[in-house]
Amino acid sequence: MLTPQKLLHDIFGYSTFRGEQAAVIDELIHGRDVLVLMPTGGGKSLCYQIPALMRTGVGIIISPLIALMQDQVDALLQLGVKAACLNSSIANKTAYQIEQQLLKGELDLLYVAPERLMTPRFLQLLEQSRIALFAIDEAHCVSQWGHDFRPEYVQLSILHERFPNVPRIALTATADAITKREIIERLNLQQAREFTASFDRPNIRYSINQKRSAREQLLNFLETNNHRENAGIVYCLSRKKVEETAQWLTEKGWLALPYHAGLNNQTRQQNQQRFLREENIIMVATVAFGMGIDKSNVRFVAHLDLPKNIEGYYQETGRAGRDSLPADAWMVYGLSDVITLRQMLESSEANDERKRLEKRKLTSLLGFCETTLCRRQVLLNYFGEAYIKACGNCDNCLNPVETWDGTVAAQKALSCVYRTGQRFGVKHIIDVLSGKDTPQIKRFCHHQLSTYGIGKEYASQQWDSIFRQLVAAGYLTVDIEGYGGLKLTQESRAILKGEQSIAFRKDPPPATKNKSSKKFTKIKISADGNQFAEEISIDQPLLQLLKNVRMQLAREQGVPPYVIFHDSTLIEMQAKRPQTLAAFSEISGVGQHKLEHYGEIFLASIRSFDGFEKLS
Ligand code: ADP
Ligand code: ZN
Repeated sequence: MLTPQKLLHDIFGYSTFRGEQAAVIDELIHGRDVLVLMPTGGGKSLCYQIPALMRTGVGIIISPLIALMQDQVDALLQLGVKAACLNSSIANKTAYQIEQQLLKGELDLLYVAPERLMTPRFLQLLEQSRIALFAIDEAHCVSQWGHDFRPEYVQLSILHERFPNVPRIALTATADAITKREIIERLNLQQAREFTASFDRPNIRYSINQKRSAREQLLNFLETNNHRENAGIVYCLSRKKVEETAQWLTEKGWLALPYHAGLNNQTRQQNQQRFLREENIIMVATVAFGMGIDKSNVRFVAHLDLPKNIEGYYQETGRAGRDSLPADAWMVYGLSDVITLRQMLESSEANDERKRLEKRKLTSLLGFCETTLCRRQVLLNYFGEAYIKACGNCDNCLNPVETWDGTVAAQKALSCVYRTGQRFGVKHIIDVLSGKDTPQIKRFCHHQLSTYGIGKEYASQQWDSIFRQLVAAGYLTVDIEGYGGLKLTQESRAILKGEQSIAFRKDPPPATKNKSSKKFTKIKISADGNQFAEEISIDQPLLQLLKNVRMQLAREQGVPPYVIFHDSTLIEMQAKRPQTLAAFSEISGVGQHKLEHYGEIFLASIRSFDGFEKLS
């Protein structure tokens, strides 16, 4: 009998469903609507792919991400599933053929762009076909408040009216309550059962460091974490910085490409394509890059500038590690970033309500950066998810941060800001505190102030850290009319009057090189949703050989390598070294179709490697 479990095993090559996948699939198979909120990499696709294969007719998947449809279709074709896509990039003749296949019932899955779906002609085609289900991917695009708003998405409620008996599934990785309400309302999903997964990404290691010399730190991060062979994204705020950083990395011998809205369309497309198709490219980009990038083996996301808010941080870092293998979310930030953001906010022309909201979000972001608690805990609590244990996989858990009582230091800092007239930048104030002899100090007679030289006990880098934390916590703000001078706030008074104490974090020293690890810890999620870690040892030469074989196959077919096999499948392969097809089929990610097409090729490579090893 055809069961979801059997399809999972035979087609996808997986042994167990994750989290709520089985329950979602069951609803759809029985013809009921569902709403699925699951983080990136949570396994949303299987939720509609399996029911579409089980029910009579074709599954229609609506997605706004035209650039990625072909890759999704390629991945399905690799599994032996009859899939196709229709969007503006498909030639007319091919589109006609696909429509004929649709009418004849020859397709299992059809991906369609929303604007194409909504044409009267296409809706009519659908009425003449058997439809298994509608999957509305990236469903948050109906939200007018979000930045991914698509007007055509709002019209998708038509599906419910014209095809009342076809079940629908809406999926998104956006978790907030407002967006969820909008999805339900606009798509008429009041009857739908809701499935919300935890938004934790256990395999991502979060770390945030004090900015000293950002590029050098980036290089150090890449080297100490063995990212030489890996794909990753480096986010910068401005186009200029993107260009400069990409060029600098290239000079240092890394394979880096730029991506921002100022590049012409062709270059952008080319760079994106190379990032998807090749193994070890670093994309240096503004946030224009990334929406819906479903490259599964992005091993790190690095921020050289602060994101706009925690939502942005979560989304951008979430592009790492979709394959559940360990991935890094790394960021550096410093006093100047805090000042820039505060300044941008103060001078923004948004209305008061909006400004208050953004201010709150910025405060949360800065709080997240400065926290001495487990980052994952702070992150998930921000999204309303109760996460009470320390994760063991963030910088604060791995290297607990020390704090020190900074009340006196803060008083000195704040009173020096006050004495100098609340109009000087931080550098000058630190000079005054340190008792320096600069032309500016002379000019304003600041050597005569009572706060002159009262802070000699700290080096200027420590004062930097103190001021950063004071601005981050809102005890100082930035004057927008002048030249970014620091000003006291309402909150400063309590500190100055000694009514409140303040603790600062001790910024840890720069990281030193990790031992090149021969082990890989894979975070797995069991059927009941629990995480467990599995240690797999890595034989680097064998893994590289298997990657080369994969690249060869991918090139021949013009598809991205991860469509042939995910990294996790290759890693399991090199650990188990199967000798027979039967043993090969046991590996997670090997379904029947791939077993038939690639089994012998990979077995032969493993055998020849083993033989070579015996000789040497
Ligand atoms: P999402 O769309 O939610 O970001 P995907 O559907 O792309 O996530 O799935 C993420 C990865 O997890 C894919 O590589 C997918 O093949 C894998 N995956 C999904 N479900 C399972 C499962 N039950 N067992 C093993 N791997 C799975
Ligand atoms: Zn932690």
